[in-house]
Amino acid sequence: MLNKTIASVLPLLPAKFVWVFSKRYIAGEKLEDAISVIKEFNRSGYRASIDLLGEHFALTEQINSCKNEYLNIIEEVASDNLDTTISLKPTMFGLLTDSSKCYLRIHEIIKKAATRNYFVRIDMEDSTCTDLEINMFKKLFNEFPQNVGLVLQSYLKRTPGDLKMLREYNNSRIPLNIRLCKGIYIESEDIAFQKHDEINYHFLKDLEYMFQNEFYCAIATHDRELIDGSVMLIDKYNVSKSKYEFQMLYGVTPELRTSVADSGHPIRVYIPYGKNWFSYSTRRLKENPRIMSHLIKALFFKG
Ligand SMILES: Cc1cc2nc3c(=O)[nH]c(=O)nc-3n(C[C@H](O)[C@H](O)[C@H](O)COP(=O)(O)OP(=O)(O)OC[C@H]3O[C@@H](n4cnc5c(N)ncnc54)[C@H](O)[C@@H]3O)c2cc1C
Repeated sequence: MLNKTIASVLPLLPAKFVWVFSKRYIAGEKLEDAISVIKEFNRSGYRASIDLLGEHFALTEQINSCKNEYLNIIEEVASDNLDTTISLKPTMFGLLTDSSKCYLRIHEIIKKAATRNYFVRIDMEDSTCTDLEINMFKKLFNEFPQNVGLVLQSYLKRTPGDLKMLREYNNSRIPLNIRLCKGIYIESEDIAFQKHDEINYHFLKDLEYMFQNEFYCAIATHDRELIDGSVMLIDKYNVSKSKYEFQMLYGVTPELRTSVADSGHPIRVYIPYGKNWFSYSTRRLKENPRIMSHLIKALFFKG
């Protein structure tokens, strides 16, 4: 209740105040801020994934400016030879207003990434986007199998079916590159598991299916129980380090990140940046007030 109240009040507070909460999780407003964070992580042996903040855009001018920023990201990370992938959210490019135009914009980004040997991950948004994003991925995968990946969410009851469908769809020799996460949006119990134990059970079931079927698995979690369960599966199937990686969000559970890295597992850190950090932070807090307690801890105990 307290988390909910604070989350609803936050958008009314000055941005400077909200920044105190948010700065641990966001590299900064500018591309150069994100690049210097990526360089730091690369120097310490971590891979990165860069993400420009913003979602649900409808104005063409705003959408085009995001597309140009992504083209620029590719230029800059390639010129510094950074060990990073690029993550994007299709609703930033108008997915829900004009999915054909959205496809063309994302196609342009991935085409450029492919010429520079970079990889673009399509983040998974709420369930109104799932079919659209899966279909978009399938089309892009046909053309750029090495350069595009998708995210699936273990809380969605449909995910085992989607994994099976994608496996059958892939008749190339290139493994499908899927990030598996729990899912961040609030979804109804008709379509999504609600309980922690159920979501975790399905996460490990989905991951096992992916290992059994030659997917490249990006295991995105900060949940110790899931990390331990994933490591057991990695050992059980003797999965090579070239076929999986762990992924964590910038600023979240750094001690856990270090301990996973110290055990020799590859890790990628997801690094968001951009001017939209304020609406992103406040919207996320309203969507999921549970993360408020993490932010409060970050403010009072971590600086
Ligand atoms: C790299 C990456 C990419 C993701 N991409 C997507 C996506 O495309 N679509 C999507 O729906 N979801 C995405 N997510 C979010 C994901 O679905 C979960 O909502 C989120 O990771 C929390 O789940 P968890 O597995 O970490 O477990 P939880 O049980 O939620 O968290 C485990 C522990 O991690 C810590 N923790 C978790 N989240 C935070 C936080 N925000 N701040 C501080 N501490 C925290 C807490 O200590 C918590 O107890 C992504 C997550 C990661 C790591």
